[in-house]
Amino acid sequence: MAPGHIIPMIDMAKLLAKHGVSVTIVVTPLNAARFSSVIDRAVATGLSIRLLQIRFPAEAAGLPPGCESADCLPSYHFLRNFFAAINMLQQPLEEILIDLKPSPSCIICDKHISWTADTCNKFQIPRIIFDGMSCFAQLIMHRLYFSKIHETVSPSELFAVPDLPDKIEFTKLQLPGYFNPGSVDIGDFREQVWKTESQAYGVVVNSFEDLEKRYLDEYRKIKGGKVWSIGPLSLFSNDDLDRAKRGNQASIDAEQCLNWLENREPGSVIYACLGSLSRLSPDQFVELASGLELSNHPFILVIKGGAKSEEIEKWISDSGFEERTKERGVLIRGWAPQVLILSHPSIGGFLTHCGWNSTLEGISAGLPMITWPIFAEQFLNEKLVVQILETGVGVGARVVIHLGEEEKDVNKVKRDEIKSAIEMVMDEGEKGCERRKRAKRLEKWQRGPWKRVDLLISILGC
Ligand code: UDP
Repeated sequence: MAPGHIIPMIDMAKLLAKHGVSVTIVVTPLNAARFSSVIDRAVATGLSIRLLQIRFPAEAAGLPPGCESADCLPSYHFLRNFFAAINMLQQPLEEILIDLKPSPSCIICDKHISWTADTCNKFQIPRIIFDGMSCFAQLIMHRLYFSKIHETVSPSELFAVPDLPDKIEFTKLQLPGYFNPGSVDIGDFREQVWKTESQAYGVVVNSFEDLEKRYLDEYRKIKGGKVWSIGPLSLFSNDDLDRAKRGNQASIDAEQCLNWLENREPGSVIYACLGSLSRLSPDQFVELASGLELSNHPFILVIKGGAKSEEIEKWISDSGFEERTKERGVLIRGWAPQVLILSHPSIGGFLTHCGWNSTLEGISAGLPMITWPIFAEQFLNEKLVVQILETGVGVGARVVIHLGEEEKDVNKVKRDEIKSAIEMVMDEGEKGCERRKRAKRLEKWQRGPWKRVDLLISILGC
């Protein structure tokens, strides 16, 4: 239950409904409020989607009220309570299933809600899992889990992940939390996810064949063929109104944002957003803002201050940053209509934390990327973009900074590194042009990616 997981699942619901499936989405009230207008629009066009709500037991799990999505947690030290609350949703969901007529052909669930394995067993309903990651990342994690190679190296030692189509190297400190845990101990929940993953009937992936074909093929072998690539799901927010409201109420007027973009040169603007969950330390925020300023390109910068908002805002006004850059910069404090912005022709580069949704949204928009991975499997996605697809340039982040540990950030990315990555991506010379061409080619490849959906639907008999 986090934007990076629920947003693509809502798109997936629309995609399935568009293919004639009757879809029921089960969410908690705060998440329902975020998505109801998009669902209402889909229903108004004749799609068969309904939204059922179950109460979120925040209080029983020791959470402040309103913490129904990971991005609402006042501190990531509440993650254990958050997972505990999600575990309490099993019984209310089963009560819904008893009454649901006709009984579902399958349940598609986020794989992190591991008790759905037990529920699907009980009700004899096939369970398809979704975890929002690329196939590239899922294959790497599978290889790490079974080879345990990361346990044989020292934390900063570079090693190659075994049995992959390419030579892919990491240090242990760049790996996702399961292989490189942080201070918030959620290892038991993660172990449960691995255990129940193997019991699933199949896997849906937000990706498309041409993007990572060799990795999809390998992953399919592991999963007995039952892996369906049904992305890019963001393309299913297919008009400006859907895009403007995707994921949450935007903090900027969509029209005002588009007007500003209209008045910039094509391909000239950098869009910088580090996802829904990451919170840069004030020091690192200053470097990011200064790197954008030094680059001399117009920019849109999304600010998610979290607990450090005041400090960040103080710097923005005391340093004169906002005043100095007001002619060529827009600051969005809160939720940005990301897909709407990325699809505008004035955007020329995407500075991203490499969350998989953002990465794929950048790819779908045909954009070269400036990569600043922070946590989870983001270093894996960076590798795909920079090394395999060759459409990105890194700012030089070296190790994972787990959620809630921003103050321990040892990466200390510098403004000059950010400026230089932006310049490389925006460069008009041969290398920059080749990178842009490769990015554009990917945008073209993904047209018509939904044939796998028909396959999935026919197998399940929906
Ligand atoms: N997103 C958005 N506006 C924001 C921040 C995020 O629309 O201000 C969307 C973004 O388009 C993507 C999702 O939220 O679909 C974030 O998922 P991702 O996997 O990129 O990163 P996470 O937030 O999980 O770290």
